Amino acid sequence: MTIDQNHVVAISYTLKEKGSDNIIEKVEASEPFVFLFGAGNLLEKFEENLNGKAMGDDFDFILLAPDAYGNLEADAIVDVPIEVFMHEGKLMEDIVIPGKQVRLVDQQGNPLTGIVLERGLEKIKIDFNHPMAGKDLHFVGKVIEVRKATQEELDHGHVHGPGGHHH
Ligand SMILES: [Zn+2]
Repeated sequence: MTIDQNHVVAISYTLKEKGSDNIIEKVEASEPFVFLFGAGNLLEKFEENLNGKAMGDDFDFILLAPDAYGNLEADAIVDVPIEVFMHEGKLMEDIVIPGKQVRLVDQQGNPLTGIVLERGLEKIKIDFNHPMAGKDLHFVGKVIEVRKATQEELDHGHVHGPGGHHH
């Protein structure tokens, strides 16, 4: 069976940044990444590179940053008023430490994750770029399993059973 819309796919892979030997993520065949192909849950180009592969096939492809988590955006580095980090009139010292990850909520109530870059007197400089932004991603792996999704999986938009959701 080959990978196509509405199929459940299990893959193992190693993810590195292009041109680097550092492993960002390693998914073993014994505990593969299982997903519903074509459900729109993954990066479009990632699925495009797997489309039509069969069980047992190897893959080796690169997703350039714009097709992955985007380029580094200067706009995503923001000076946030220090008041945001005040609690009962005191600065939350243990949170505004350069290099530390912070979680905020934007005006629409969406969660935002950033990294503290600099602590100023009135502003805290925070980088809201995705940690993977600006990276070209190199995936090398193998297709472990391909099967048709069940109607229930299609209705839910995700995989059930091993490697999937449990209700
Ligand atoms: Zn479900």
